[in-house]
Amino acid sequence: MEKTDTFYGALGVSGQIIRLIDSFMVEEPISIGIGSIGPINHKEGMITNTPNYPFNNIPITEPLIEKYKVPVTIVNDCTAAVLGEQMFGAGRGIENLVYVTISTGLGGGAIVDGNLLMGKDGNAVEVGHFTLHPDSEVVCGCGCRGHWEAYSSGKNIPVYAERILQTKDWDTGLLHQLSGGTTKNLTAENIFTAAKKGDKHAQGIVHEIGLKNAIGFGNIVNAYDPELITIGGTIALENPDLILNPIKENIEQHIINRAPEIMITPLGQDSVILGALALAMRV
Ligand SMILES: [Zn+2]
Repeated sequence: MEKTDTFYGALGVSGQIIRLIDSFMVEEPISIGIGSIGPINHKEGMITNTPNYPFNNIPITEPLIEKYKVPVTIVNDCTAAVLGEQMFGAGRGIENLVYVTISTGLGGGAIVDGNLLMGKDGNAVEVGHFTLHPDSEVVCGCGCRGHWEAYSSGKNIPVYAERILQTKDWDTGLLHQLSGGTTKNLTAENIFTAAKKGDKHAQGIVHEIGLKNAIGFGNIVNAYDPELITIGGTIALENPDLILNPIKENIEQHIINRAPEIMITPLGQDSVILGALALAMRV
């Protein structure tokens, strides 16, 4: 595992992938599946305008096809994960399922009537950018207001928490202690840790995040009518009850469709990698 190397520009990313494949390859590959950060262009095989890198249009599939002479497919990481869930996880035998990651960012993948949803460019299930509150002062990393990810992802939870605490007197308690008394040091980790240990300010923040998640998951149920939703990503995997319970308790207020089963993925951190394998097996 390596951090993406941005030093050599857009072309360096595929060079790094090739070097990593070569480092563990024992036999020539038959096909290659990739679960990638988004947004992507599935047909062109590239990562397009991601806010995470200093350059756009990163070609991925073409350099790999040239090198290994086999079919190469790229999908969004959560699109890979939902395939992994269906092939190896809780979704076996299920034709309507959604996978959601609550991690640094917030994203989803969906299979509807047995079909993996892709969309024109491969970004059909960008659930993290569902608008919950268009007039909100909370701005998403993508620049839009009130997107779900802006409240509930690991990167944005501290910013949202700071906003909540502005109106509170939080001079005491574990969260205050863990963050050295300054909102600038808040992290998702210390908020959830303090909430688990009974800190009432942290619990208040987790409650607000839970209400946003219930709206987001409600939108998913209304859009895709799934039988099962599995949740992965570090924030959810490390705090299963604090994430799941508020969703289950509040989702009914937001849905017209029959509620699905909602659970933490049994695949843990391996959803995307198993999904990439499932993707390669489909080629
Ligand atoms: Zn957004």
